Amino acid sequence: MTVWVLGDQLATEHGPVAERPDEPVLLIEAHSFAERLPYHPHKLVLVFSAMRHFRDVLRERGREVRYYRTETFGDGLNAYFEAYPDDEVTLMRPAGGGIDRVRALVGDAGGRLEVVANDLFCCSRESFDEWTAGKDSDGYRHEHFYRYMRRETGYLMEDGDPVGGEWNYDEDNRETPPDDWTPPTAPAFDLDEITRDVDSWVANRFDGSYDEAPYGGSWADPEPFRWPVTRQQALEALADFCEHRLAEFGPYQDAMRRESWAMSHSLLSTSLNLGLVHPREVIERAIDTYERGEAPLNSVEGVVRQVLGWREFVRHVYRRERDELGTANQLNATELLPTFFWTGETDMACLADVIDGVRRRGYSHHIERLMILSNFATTFGIDPQALNRWFHAAYVDAFHWVTTPNVVGMGTFASDVLSTKPYAASSNYVDRMSDYCGDCPYYKTKTTGENACPFNALYWDFLGRNEDRLRSNHRMGLVYSHWDDKDDQERDAIRDRAASIRQQARTGDL
Ligand code: SF4
Repeated sequence: MTVWVLGDQLATEHGPVAERPDEPVLLIEAHSFAERLPYHPHKLVLVFSAMRHFRDVLRERGREVRYYRTETFGDGLNAYFEAYPDDEVTLMRPAGGGIDRVRALVGDAGGRLEVVANDLFCCSRESFDEWTAGKDSDGYRHEHFYRYMRRETGYLMEDGDPVGGEWNYDEDNRETPPDDWTPPTAPAFDLDEITRDVDSWVANRFDGSYDEAPYGGSWADPEPFRWPVTRQQALEALADFCEHRLAEFGPYQDAMRRESWAMSHSLLSTSLNLGLVHPREVIERAIDTYERGEAPLNSVEGVVRQVLGWREFVRHVYRRERDELGTANQLNATELLPTFFWTGETDMACLADVIDGVRRRGYSHHIERLMILSNFATTFGIDPQALNRWFHAAYVDAFHWVTTPNVVGMGTFASDVLSTKPYAASSNYVDRMSDYCGDCPYYKTKTTGENACPFNALYWDFLGRNEDRLRSNHRMGLVYSHWDDKDDQERDAIRDRAASIRQQARTGDL
């Protein structure tokens, strides 16, 4: 028997690698897999460097590791079962499903496969499926799941009730920092020999170019790679977050500052999604920081909500609804992704800054993803599946089970399977939560006319275009009452301005 480890299952302390210490370990780097999309080079460096470090850590511990560098997983499995024809490999279920394809590949290679539970999450398939059983069919609701998980795990619970008396402290988590706030330093990890080798190999093999018609280009010159590639580094990143940023994470979690790409966010998503650190470790370290009086409850509850709640929720919703989410487009959005999603070349200060950060680091934080990028795409009418492919290619922490529910479900409301309303907003929101609008050539207070902020006309036009679908939504009643206040002349001007913005975006003049 051999333990087969996928590139997002790099856990030394959990799963069959830990439970079967005498069995060899198999890893396969499948290079053509990395050419399916124009991935950001940092994403490729992250995965391949972390795999090679994982191999070396196990070998240093005396473990036999069989490591294959091939074009496809099929090639790797063929080579493996040719060398070890009588072997059976044990694999944790892939996080996002797709085990049938894996079984077929192993079968085609003449091998045998044992599939075991994925131990890198807090909520098992059985537990999630039990939670959904008997629910009425109004979709999956995160708040209900989150409370279920709090009760199941006992995290931030006291005598059956939530610590502090509330399940949710979001009301305290919508502040913006004062002008003289100094952003905490984001950790960066030096490139060792393995990462340097991978970095130059990725630069030679994958040029980061993209060819989504009708555009072309590349990810240009990113900053030096900075993300944790070992468990040791991931634990350092966790400690750094809890010591230096967790206390302010809560209040500023929705804020955006031009001079701080990281704000007080944890920056742990890459480590969690590769398996370098377990979500229970993150949750328990954050709760411990709260119990020692070093971080407020609203910050720590925010972490628990994200890691125990939302992250586990989207993983299971994707597992169950991947076919629906993979094609959903309930608002019939068909616009192509504008070129500036790849180049960053737009006069819109908010979008330009966020996309520039993605080009540099393969990362932007949650609220920039939701309220700048996805908000623009939603109100502009961009094809949600095209936007999903862009997120999947651009972000270092993106895997299908991560981006698809977040982009197609929450971000663009292309499916109502896990969201009850679209996250659409005008410049009011961006101006309230960021410092972008002050330096923008567009006027945040104007909706129509020359140099009016594109978000304003797009927002109202979005409501108008989707009135049949959205007006009956009780959570949209207030915004439609404002739409009702507009006369025909104003609505026509909004439609004209939105059409002109789309045309400018198509020609690269926005
Ligand atoms: Fe973005 Fe509009 Fe503000 Fe400019 S004015 S930064 S485009 S929201």
